[in-house]
Amino acid sequence: MSKANNATTWALACRLFGNEEPTLESALSDPERGALAALGEIRAVKQHQLDLRYVLCPYCQLHRGQVVQTVTGLACQCPDCGSIAVDAVDRQAWLFDPDWLIRKLRGALNVPAQQGAVAMVNGVWRLGTYQRRPVILSRCLDLLLQQPSLIARTRSAAIPWLITPKPLRDVVDDPLAGAAAWLPLEERFTLYGGNISFMEPEAVADAAVYADIIEAVNGPFSTDFRWVHLPGESAPIGLSEAHASVFGAFWHFGGQEQEAHSVMSRAGLTSDKPIDVFKVKTKNKGDPKYEGPLRAYRELVKTNQRAGTYAMPCAAKVTS
Ligand SMILES: [Zn+2]
Repeated sequence: MSKANNATTWALACRLFGNEEPTLESALSDPERGALAALGEIRAVKQHQLDLRYVLCPYCQLHRGQVVQTVTGLACQCPDCGSIAVDAVDRQAWLFDPDWLIRKLRGALNVPAQQGAVAMVNGVWRLGTYQRRPVILSRCLDLLLQQPSLIARTRSAAIPWLITPKPLRDVVDDPLAGAAAWLPLEERFTLYGGNISFMEPEAVADAAVYADIIEAVNGPFSTDFRWVHLPGESAPIGLSEAHASVFGAFWHFGGQEQEAHSVMSRAGLTSDKPIDVFKVKTKNKGDPKYEGPLRAYRELVKTNQRAGTYAMPCAAKVTS
């Protein structure tokens, strides 16, 4: 294994990923060449066949010059420096393999294997989901800042994760103003033993977990039915365990009309009718903590008085 340290190697990987063009080995510093060799060993970079008629001048590394055969070997005809001898390394170029990065990032985030990675546009991929939120990988942050519609195209209600290398300029922590949770490649991930690991900062973790808990997953409801998002309301409504059990039971019946006792036994509750659980006691009138769930019940559950049945139509509209 090469002696290059992990930090240098990972920093170079992030930089090369951001650059679609092949990288000339001669343009790298000595530590970076060691890092490049390490990236070659783990197959993150591949040798790239350059147009050998022209190379970057080995002396000034500013101009490209025509390569000519001289008595002492090959030489670059630099417009500024004149004839400069060309070593093998001067003609060696490497191309970063984005598929390698995609594979390793999916591993780091435990993206389920059945979710394939999809190229959205040149330089932007959808890697699958992490914590039920889409993961987008982009060669650079600016691609997304210039085309915000790409984020909308992830076709999900959840705020996506966005992985990009850090731009050279300073950027704020939340460059997409809430439209995506940015995970700078250099800061949130690290390379070790040929694999990438994800470093989840507490703050990101907490925000993500909270967003996750309240996120509408089952129709307008969160995973555990403890939160409901009503159309036209910006804040979700918190539900008690009993409320959640009733809505969970309605969800189970998929919009089918049911008698009260089926719903209540499915919910594991002893009340006679679903509405009993939502009734607001006089002392709690006007308290959003109690009025919210009742409002949700009235909006989502349809009662057929004559037949004595109940149904939650939104449970029938599940497409995914
Ligand atoms: Zn030159």
